[in-house]
Amino acid sequence: MELRADTAAATSTERWVEIPEPVLDVYKLWRPTPLIRARRLEKQLDTPAHIYYKYEGVSPVGSHKPNTAVPEAFYVKEEGATGMATLTGAGQWGSALAMACRFFDLECHVYMVRVSYDQKPYRRILMESYGAHVFPSPSDSTEYGRKLLAENPNHPGSLGIAASESMNAAASLGGKFKLGAGSLLGPVLMHQTVIGLEALEQFELAGEYPDVVITCNGAGSNVGGMTFPFLHRNFTEGKNTRVVAVEPTACPSLTKGKYAFDYGDTGKTFPIMKMHTLGSNFLPPSIHAGGLRYHGMSPHVSALYEHGDIEAVAVPQLATFEAALQFAGAEGILPAPESAHAVRAAIDEALRCKESGETKVIAFLLSGHGHYDLAAYDAYLNKELEDYEYPEAAVREAMEQLPEVQVHAR
Ligand SMILES: *Cc1c(COP(=O)(O)O)cnc(C)c1O
Repeated sequence: MELRADTAAATSTERWVEIPEPVLDVYKLWRPTPLIRARRLEKQLDTPAHIYYKYEGVSPVGSHKPNTAVPEAFYVKEEGATGMATLTGAGQWGSALAMACRFFDLECHVYMVRVSYDQKPYRRILMESYGAHVFPSPSDSTEYGRKLLAENPNHPGSLGIAASESMNAAASLGGKFKLGAGSLLGPVLMHQTVIGLEALEQFELAGEYPDVVITCNGAGSNVGGMTFPFLHRNFTEGKNTRVVAVEPTACPSLTKGKYAFDYGDTGKTFPIMKMHTLGSNFLPPSIHAGGLRYHGMSPHVSALYEHGDIEAVAVPQLATFEAALQFAGAEGILPAPESAHAVRAAIDEALRCKESGETKVIAFLLSGHGHYDLAAYDAYLNKELEDYEYPEAAVREAMEQLPEVQVHAR
């Protein structure tokens, strides 16, 4: 078993990798995605700033995730695999991979965090409609899952646990199954850069260039996909675009995590990576932006943050939903709760421009729509949601279990 995202293309020493024709053929179903100027939001905020959003919710499953699911399925098929195993939180990644596997005639096994499996049936149904098998994680189909269920039959699961289970499953199915990765790893971020590359061309057509680019941030695919092409211009052409990664205060990997070697999964089967982490045993509070509840962070995004090339900010849950509804009221689209973190920060930036009178160009990534997350909006509208502050004690405890790494100086 190998980490599937580690494709030939990803290990290439070339700076640019051609998108294979069969992948482009699928992308054409919804790409290019629109870059939209939020004129009605600008007016509502009474800001001199120009606000643009790149909208990935037009993909068939409603998020940016198929940008990497499709090439992963393509490369796996090329190498003779018959299926893919993966993990999913609320099901955004799982539904993207289920669709991609269907397109390339592969079996798809998805380990879905149990609370979501029980409480959010619609994405499970979508995955099954594409022909995928969906297991609630922890499940009784892996050794690790059985161990956790024996300890606690009502175990709610987590992304870290589902990661261990999907890895177990892929390994036990032999070389025929490959592991699919929805975020975190370099190849995923590289596949997602199609977003920022398109945005660069669209800004050229618009005759503007962003002063600041904002995305939500859970494990790194939003930051990588939208902002790396702009960072490339910063590094090679002397541009000065600020990049801001926005995370939830309940799971603040970049702003509060430690930059250290850690495991990517709770079962400690993943290779260790140097990244910003809250500890692989940290169970984040059950906020509604499920896609951002991950203890670790892309090593690439972590390194850029450590070097001061990008900024990060954490925003609380309630202010995030408030921004989402303000955006929906102006532009019509109800954002995914994850994407709403970027909306919050973009609105805050636009309000600062109002104070200072600056006509900045603000771009943010709207990574998906919230049509499968209506229960979250229901809870917000019924005032059932609360803010979670940084869970300091839980993080400190998890941090005590960082792996010991010996660095050998030459
Ligand atoms: C998965 C997901 C995210 C989180 O992705 P990162 O890799 O953490 O950037 C954000 N928004 C949507 C709509 C998602 O599906």
